[in-house]
Amino acid sequence: MKIKILAMGSIGTNCYVVSDDAGNTAIIDCDGDPRPLFSYIAENNLNPTHILLTHGHYDHIGAVDLVKDKYGCKVIAGKDEMPVLTDPAINSSLYCGGEFIIIPDELVSDGDIITVGDLKFQVMFTPGHTVGSLCFILQDNIFSGDTLFQGSCGRTDLATGDWNTILRSLKRLRNLPGDYSVFPGHGPSTTLGIERMSNPYM
Ligand SMILES: [Zn+2]
Repeated sequence: MKIKILAMGSIGTNCYVVSDDAGNTAIIDCDGDPRPLFSYIAENNLNPTHILLTHGHYDHIGAVDLVKDKYGCKVIAGKDEMPVLTDPAINSSLYCGGEFIIIPDELVSDGDIITVGDLKFQVMFTPGHTVGSLCFILQDNIFSGDTLFQGSCGRTDLATGDWNTILRSLKRLRNLPGDYSVFPGHGPSTTLGIERMSNPYM
């Protein structure tokens, strides 16, 4: 299994390219000019079959249509995130140079498993940053979107955000047994152990 981090788009959103040993690949969030992503996929002979969306904000979905068109990927998002994915005012693309509307191919719920080749992503429902935000857990790795950052957490002042709700989601993450590598939607990677000790929002 390999995890590649590409910071893409106008504010450098982390796009994660996760592949198994046979090249079966999931792309987690993608914004901006997709050419660095296309190059990485071509250089490594990968076969992207799924785009997993942690949430629907413009800076996580901006390249979804281009990537889907190129590879025929299935787009997967949380079942409660439709208001964000389908409304350019709510996902803020209206104010950021586009009008993005994403219709996922599949909606998932807490506890669902998404299988991509040998990879099994467990869906964790972590609302608060947006109404339908998700984290994806793969073995001892968490892709945390804009719910959990190194030393911080996602803002809740945008449409559908809610402070008490994200605090509950962060508490759920804190209470997961054992340690995990954490791959956030922005900024550097961290571990759950470090965040439990040092993140004031946990
Ligand atoms: Zn966001």
